Amino acid sequence: MANSLVLAVDLGGSKILTAVVNVKGEMLSRDHSITPAAKGPEAVIQAILESAERVLNQAGIAATELEAICIGAPGLSNPETGVVFASPHLPGWENVPLKHIIEDKMGVKTLIINDANAAALGEMYFGAAKGARDFIYITISTGIGGGIVIDGEIYAGPLGTAGEIGHMTIDTNGPKCNCGNNGCWETLASGTALTREARQRIAAGAKTSILEYTNGDINKVNAEIVHKAARQGDALAKELIAQVSYYFGVGLANLINIFNPELIVIGGGLSNIGDRLLEPAYKVAEERAYKVAFESVRFARAELGRNSGVIGAAAYAFREIGKAKGNVK
Ligand SMILES: [Zn+2]
Repeated sequence: MANSLVLAVDLGGSKILTAVVNVKGEMLSRDHSITPAAKGPEAVIQAILESAERVLNQAGIAATELEAICIGAPGLSNPETGVVFASPHLPGWENVPLKHIIEDKMGVKTLIINDANAAALGEMYFGAAKGARDFIYITISTGIGGGIVIDGEIYAGPLGTAGEIGHMTIDTNGPKCNCGNNGCWETLASGTALTREARQRIAAGAKTSILEYTNGDINKVNAEIVHKAARQGDALAKELIAQVSYYFGVGLANLINIFNPELIVIGGGLSNIGDRLLEPAYKVAEERAYKVAFESVRFARAELGRNSGVIGAAAYAFREIGKAKGNVK
C-alpha cells in the first residue's frame, strides 16, 4: 500500500478538480478545469477524461499504475452501483452510469461518492475530524451539503442518498427551493439566501452601502459583497448575516437533537465569514437543542478548504481498497 496512488475527481457544477493523491492525502499533481455543464453528461465526462489524462501526465504515471479512480459527484448517486440519479447543478444527468463509463474508458476500478460525503471522509482522515467516530460535516456555500458519519462510517441509506441536510424543512412557508420544496434549510441559511435577501431589501429601498461595492449594480450583489459591507459596519449587511446565522443555528439544533454528534465540522465558502456567522448560530443552537446534547458537541472549521472534495474522494478510494484487501483499520 505504501506507493498506492489514486486519481481523485471533484466534479462540481462549475469546476472539475482532478488530482493524483497518495495514501497520506498528498497531491502529486493537480488539474483545474471548467465543467461544460450546459452541454450535458457526455461533454462533462469527456472533460473528466481529458483532465485525468493531464493529471496523469503531470505526475508522470500511467493509468495502469493507479489503484482506483474516485469521483466525488454532486447530487444524488448510488455508491454501490456508481449511477448518478440526478444532480441539480448538472443539467441532463439522469441515471448516468458514471462508474461503468469511466471504468470502460480508463480500465481502472472506479468509485462514485456524493461530494459532501467525500469531504466528510477527507476531514475524517486528513483534516478537522481526525479521530472522530460520530460527526457531521456541513458545507455551507451556494447551498448546504452534508455528510453524516456514524461510528466511523458514512451513513448513506439504502439508496445512497442520505445526508441531504440542506433540504430539511425549516419554514414550511419559506422560499422555494431547487428541490421543489419550500423553506429548506439551504433556502434560508446559505450564500444564495444571503444574496436573495440583500437584493430584496435593497430593491425595497433599504438604506445601505452595499451597492457602493458593485458600482450600483444590484445584480452584482452576492454573499461576499454583503460580508465586505458588514466588515465596514453596514447595518443592513450585519442584519442580513445575523438572519442567515439564526437559521443556520436552527438547523444545527435539529442535527444535534437527532444525531447527538461529538463533532460538527463546518466548511464551504460562506463559512469564511467566520465568527460573525458562526458564533451567533452556535448560540441559537444552544438555546434550541437539548442541553446535554449541545454540551457534548464540539464545533470545528473544516481544514481541507477547496481541496476537500478531491482529498475526500481519495480518502474514500483508499478506504474501499483497504476494505477490498481486508486490511482497513
Ligand atoms: Zn430543498
